[in-house]
Amino acid sequence: MSNVAKHLEGGFDVERVRADFPILQRTVHNKPLAYFDTAASAQRPLAVIEATDRFYRQHNANIHRGVHTLSQEATEAYEGARDRVASFINAPSRDELVFTRGTTESINLVAQAYLRPRLEPGDQILISHMEHHSNIVPWQILCEQTGAELKVIPINERGELDMEAFAGLLNERVRLLGIVHVSNALGTINPVAEICRAAHALDIPVLVDGAQAMPHQSVDVQALGCDFYCFSGHKMYGPTGIGGLWAPLETLNDMDPYQGGGEMIKTVTFEETVYNDPPGKFEAGTPNIAGGVGLGAAVDYLASLGMDNIAGYESDLLAYATEKLSSIDGLRIVGTAARKAGVISFMLGDIHPNDIGTIIDHYGVAIRTGHHCAMPAIRHFGLPATCRASLGIYNTRHEVDVLHDALLAAGRMFN
Ligand code: PLP
Repeated sequence: MSNVAKHLEGGFDVERVRADFPILQRTVHNKPLAYFDTAASAQRPLAVIEATDRFYRQHNANIHRGVHTLSQEATEAYEGARDRVASFINAPSRDELVFTRGTTESINLVAQAYLRPRLEPGDQILISHMEHHSNIVPWQILCEQTGAELKVIPINERGELDMEAFAGLLNERVRLLGIVHVSNALGTINPVAEICRAAHALDIPVLVDGAQAMPHQSVDVQALGCDFYCFSGHKMYGPTGIGGLWAPLETLNDMDPYQGGGEMIKTVTFEETVYNDPPGKFEAGTPNIAGGVGLGAAVDYLASLGMDNIAGYESDLLAYATEKLSSIDGLRIVGTAARKAGVISFMLGDIHPNDIGTIIDHYGVAIRTGHHCAMPAIRHFGLPATCRASLGIYNTRHEVDVLHDALLAAGRMFN
């Protein structure tokens, strides 16, 4: 059976999926849009657009404290979304899911509310060479605040973790390991469950940056065995300004609040404040209510397609795109890990990535160029920047062909 037939049978019909994304009908420079920038931010399906629209048209009010109908409806919609997102990642309890602005805020929250009070000078925080800046800089700030040291797991020439070096870096001074599940710059899928087992053998808690894993594969926080899982709504076809932090209730109960304000308290007097239970304890202030509702719609949408179907479809498309782009003279793929998700970083000869990106935009093709907020990972390959084509559920083989032809045309301009 052909792969296409298999995916149709498995319920993945890319043309049907494309019809769910209104933006794909527009043109760019009079060419059909071929959007290969999903790793930066995914497009939104009608289900998400309509859920937020419906919320604002019919249910908009502040949540939790209101006795009036709209407030109760808004609370139900927002908290209902929490139920669905928690179950999407197989969290044991809905109370273990803290809504945040996204991955960046989730990591900063763990750095300041969990780790800061537990660190002493000379303690270590371990991350890897392929981290996004949001899993580097919060730890650097924390090291400055506490006198702890940042240690880095090296990567090899394919952009995979050096697992031997990783084992050598584990020691009793390491207070937390922060690791990306799927690299946004290289596409590498890290063996998170294995990494957690190794770290836990020394009682080292593990934070996983799941920003790029959530849209591509099913994520089960219990099966992974991690201690913190962070993600962003806009990478998974939901709204911007909303995301999540998952951690076991026991850990959340043991943590200081991140910010003070409304929502995160039970009682306040000038003498004493009693904090709310998690997740409210970490959600000070009025949250992104419509964003939460939209994120609930996004996970419903992804679940309706089936994460395994998505992973299967994207993995075939990645193989096709890798082969097709590799056939271009002078094109070098940066990041060739054995286990990869739908991200292809590349250089075309010595043409500056920004020039490539600008030229192929005229063919309707959207790729990202630059350091992808992962400067150390890109510099590891001796480069200041790359082109990056990232795949989403709506991309097709035909679009890969369009990308290929646009790159050929760009290459010709420099010869
Ligand atoms: N981690 C990874 C791997 C990412 O790709 C990104 C965004 O590109 C982030 C973290 C930060 O996500 P956000 O900007 O949504 O907080």
